[in-house]
Amino acid sequence: MAKHKQNKLAWLQEELDDLREVGRYTNIRTLDSPQGAWLVVDGKKVLNFCSNNYLGLANHPRIVQAAKAAIDRYGVGPGAVRTIAGTMTLHETLERKLAEFKGADAAITFQSGFSANIGAIPALIGDNDLIISDRLNHASIIDGTRLTKAARTIYEHADPASLRDVLEMNYGQYQRLFIITDGVFSMDGDIAPLPQIVALAEEFNAITIVDDAHGEGVLGRGGRGIVDHFGLHGRVDVEIGTLSKAFGVVGGIVAGSQTLVDWLKQRGRPILFSSAMTVPDVAACIEAVDILSESSELVDRLWENARTFKAEMQRLGFDIGHSQTPITPVMLGEERLAQQFSRRLYEEGVFGTAITFPTVPRGMARIRVMISAAHSQEDLEVGLATFRKVGQELGVID
Ligand SMILES: *Cc1c(COP(=O)(O)O)cnc(C)c1O
Repeated sequence: MAKHKQNKLAWLQEELDDLREVGRYTNIRTLDSPQGAWLVVDGKKVLNFCSNNYLGLANHPRIVQAAKAAIDRYGVGPGAVRTIAGTMTLHETLERKLAEFKGADAAITFQSGFSANIGAIPALIGDNDLIISDRLNHASIIDGTRLTKAARTIYEHADPASLRDVLEMNYGQYQRLFIITDGVFSMDGDIAPLPQIVALAEEFNAITIVDDAHGEGVLGRGGRGIVDHFGLHGRVDVEIGTLSKAFGVVGGIVAGSQTLVDWLKQRGRPILFSSAMTVPDVAACIEAVDILSESSELVDRLWENARTFKAEMQRLGFDIGHSQTPITPVMLGEERLAQQFSRRLYEEGVFGTAITFPTVPRGMARIRVMISAAHSQEDLEVGLATFRKVGQELGVID
């Protein structure tokens, strides 16, 4: 037996050093304020350009009040997994309201969007099935598919012709075919061609799963999501999503038929083996759905802000990719440049995290600006002026 304390994890230190060297080390900053247009980050007040708080709901007074009231009535913890003693009337209320909002028959909540993907996908897909994924699907979808024993293949990003090729090649060779795609692609902000995907799924008798994490509260009438955006009600088999982005809280959701939800209650492992969403989270989400159901004001302001910001960034000469949503990737390419850009933005009072490999492909580093309804016109102007200054200084724009 070794007498001295060994550093058995020394290789990790070497890996960390390597990450720093190539500019892929993520410097995690700390917030000491509520979410909103302005934040206190590492002790400094900065304009927030990178949270998913699309509608400013994370610190909305009505939502904060709803969470407090629920705590007074029901406490904090759910006490158990959903199937033992953790299902409260609050959960059922939220699920009913979410289903109504999205125009689905039924919905079930998970602890997060990540959890919804790694729970729902393996619960639905068996050993003799084939999973057909968009090349750029979110990590939680990829992990969900890895928890199945099904065969897996990909089609080219957002490319119905490529999807058709894959379907033709594999039709009849598996028990079932599943097509899985992000609704809005989180790093580029483009939207999956869902009408074509659904039509192909109907032609080849495949089951469709769409992860609408960045579409909920953003796309569709009053933020009702991608299915509403394209008018595909009843034609997408499984809608997965999150309550942590536009809804401003935390939690995951799967919406679809009553049969789907009944099955997930029996076989969704995060439902059976991980405790339910907490009381304040559920109450806050209920209030968020109510706010969105009452008015499209916040969603409208989000889009107006996004249009203004994107047009100005383009006019300044930035490459902002091909986003169709408020997600605004400012493409910088080289990882070290992106890190340096982010550091300079922060020094100038703007919080915009660099996004590098493995979150995006190598050499496609960027600052992903997340526009929010919480931003005022003046906030956007401050942000644009700072991007212009740093962009010129680092030679990204003229
Ligand atoms: C953010 C995101 C998730 C994870 O959602 P959480 O609720 O934060 O766990 C899942 N899928 C996609 C496409 C996402 O963008």
